[in-house]
Amino acid sequence: MQILDGKIVAQAVKEALKQKTDLLQKEGKKTPHLAAVLIGTNGASETYVASKVKTCAEIGYMSTLIRFEASISEEELLKKIDELNNDTSVDGILVQLPLPKHISEEKVINAIAVEKDVDGFHPSNIGKMVQGQPSYIPATPYGILLLLQHYNIETKGKHAVVIGRSNIVGRPMSILLSQNSSTGNCTVTLCHSHTRNLKELCLQADIIVAALGKPEFLTADMVKEGAVVIDVGITRVEDSTKKKGYAIKGDVHFETVAPKCSFITPVPGGVGAMTIAALMENTFLAAAHHR
Ligand code: NAD
Repeated sequence: MQILDGKIVAQAVKEALKQKTDLLQKEGKKTPHLAAVLIGTNGASETYVASKVKTCAEIGYMSTLIRFEASISEEELLKKIDELNNDTSVDGILVQLPLPKHISEEKVINAIAVEKDVDGFHPSNIGKMVQGQPSYIPATPYGILLLLQHYNIETKGKHAVVIGRSNIVGRPMSILLSQNSSTGNCTVTLCHSHTRNLKELCLQADIIVAALGKPEFLTADMVKEGAVVIDVGITRVEDSTKKKGYAIKGDVHFETVAPKCSFITPVPGGVGAMTIAALMENTFLAAAHHR
C-alpha cells in the first residue's frame, strides 16, 4: 500500500508556480491576483479561506480578502462581484461556499465572470469541461487528477466508482474520469444517496472516490484488494482529547481500508492540500489569460 501524499505533491505544484511567478516579477509583469469573498463566520470556511490567502502569499500572488457579515443582502453581494468582475487588477474570484440561506448560490456563481471563475463552478466552465474544452476545472477534482498523474496511476479501462454527485466534487469528478484523456478513460459509476447496491458496486471498483461527507463511511468490506481509494471527505467530529475540541475525519475508515489498497489518500494531507494547489493553478491560468 502506498500513500498518495497530497502535501508533497501540492508543495511541488506550488514551487513550480512560485518559480513562474518569480519570473513574472523579474520581467516587471503583474503577478496573479486572487480575490476571495468570505461571508459570515463559519469555522471551516474561515480555515479554508485563510489557507488560500496564505498560499497566495507563499507563491507570490496578490490576494484580497473581502469579508461580509452573514446578514449581507444578495443584491449587495452581487454588486461586489460585479465590481470585482470589472476590476482589471483582479484575475480570479472565489466566493467561499456555503452561503447563508437567503442568498442563491446559483445566482452568485452565475454572476462571476467566466474568465475569472477560478473555482470552475460557472455553467460555462462546467459545460466546456464536459466537452473536454479548455476551462477552469473545479479545484477538488482537478487536484485529484494532479495527484493521480503524479503517481502515474493508470486509469485507462479501469472501473471507477464515485460516491457523491455534488456539483463541486462528485459530478465533475465522474465526468473527468470518463473523459478520453490520460487521467480519464475509466468506466464510471456515479453513486449517491439513492444508490441501492453501493457495496456491490464498490467491490467491483478499481478506483473509489469517496465524496459524501459521512465520516468513515467506506469500510474494508466494501473495497476490493488492490483498489485505489481517494478520500475527499472532511468532517469535523467532536473530540475532547483534541485542543480544538474536534478531529477531522474523512469518508474512509482509513485504518481498515488502507491495508487492502494499492494507493490511498490520507485525511488530512491528501485531497485537501491538492484542492488549494489546483486553485492556485487555475489562478495562474486566469492571470496568463488576462495578460
Ligand atoms: P454534498 O453534501 O454536496 O454532497 C454529498 C453527496 O453524497 C450527495 O450527492 C449525496 O447524494 C451523496 N450521499 C450522501 N449520503 C450518501 C450515502 N449514504 N450513500 C451514497 N451517497 C451518499 O457534499 P460535497 O460538497 O460534495 O462534499 C462531500 C465531502 O467532501 C464533505 O465532507 C466535504 O467537506 C468534503 N470536501 C472536501 C474538499 C477537499 O478539498 N478535500 C472539497 C470539497 C468538499
